[in-house]
Amino acid sequence: MSERVAVITGGSKGIGRAVALKFARENARLVLVHYDADEVAVGETAALAAELGAGAEGRRVDVSSRGDVELLFKDVMNRHGRVDVLVNNAGITRDTLLMRMTEQDWDAVLAVNLKSVFNCTRAVIQPMMKQRKGRIVNISSVVGRIGNAGQANYAASKAGILGFTKSVAREAAPRGITVNAVAPGFVATEMTDGLSQKVKDAFMQQIPLGRIGEPDDIAEAVYWLCSDAASYITGQTIHVNGGMFM
Ligand code: NAP
Repeated sequence: MSERVAVITGGSKGIGRAVALKFARENARLVLVHYDADEVAVGETAALAAELGAGAEGRRVDVSSRGDVELLFKDVMNRHGRVDVLVNNAGITRDTLLMRMTEQDWDAVLAVNLKSVFNCTRAVIQPMMKQRKGRIVNISSVVGRIGNAGQANYAASKAGILGFTKSVAREAAPRGITVNAVAPGFVATEMTDGLSQKVKDAFMQQIPLGRIGEPDDIAEAVYWLCSDAASYITGQTIHVNGGMFM
């Protein structure tokens, strides 16, 4: 990964931070996209990446905004000349049963989780095609395959990512670009911190390997998909879930 340019959405914390630090160990140049006006988390990730020898910059962009994403990638291209890796990882939840789900709950989750993947991939696909090389990894979820009560919006967004991944993989393959998905199970991050102990215990019961996933478990799979070792793999989904779904 040395000297390659990697854009990681949701790169400030959680799984995105673990992915960033995995790439950082190989001296990649990292663009960490996040949205919170509080820059502390992204600053910490950039500092940790710098300690490992990588160049890392935080960029505050709402990935659900097509215009803002276009500007971001134009700027990245101007400054770095290329994008080798795109990890579409930014995501949110607005959990509630369908009978209580508002249009805003639906729209927000679909915009941040799914439209963002279109926005970023659309912005990067032409430069990657010109390079005749590139790696795109989209972060889905086990919930996109098996569903989850209270997450109809989230599950729809994550299932949508899988269809998108396969279609773009077919389009981009002739130009040497691979497009894959990683579907985490239950991972210890801020996203899952807020769940009640009862919900966490229920998840634990479904995990044959008997532990909650760590962000590093997911980062390993993402990194491998971006390595030369995975050059013959495209349109696939790697499930990293401790056996929760087989
Ligand atoms: P997290 O700790 O809550 O981090 C979410 C990241 O997304 C943050 O960096 C956040 O940046 C960024 N983000 C949110 N809205 C954004 C927006 N509009 N524009 C740009 N960036 C935005 O979540 P996580 O658990 O690491 O999840 C990462 C990905 O894995 C998500 O796609 C999630 O759905 C997926 N996943 C997670 C789990 C799990 O158990 N944790 C399981 C399956 C799949 P700011 O904080 O700066 O806004």
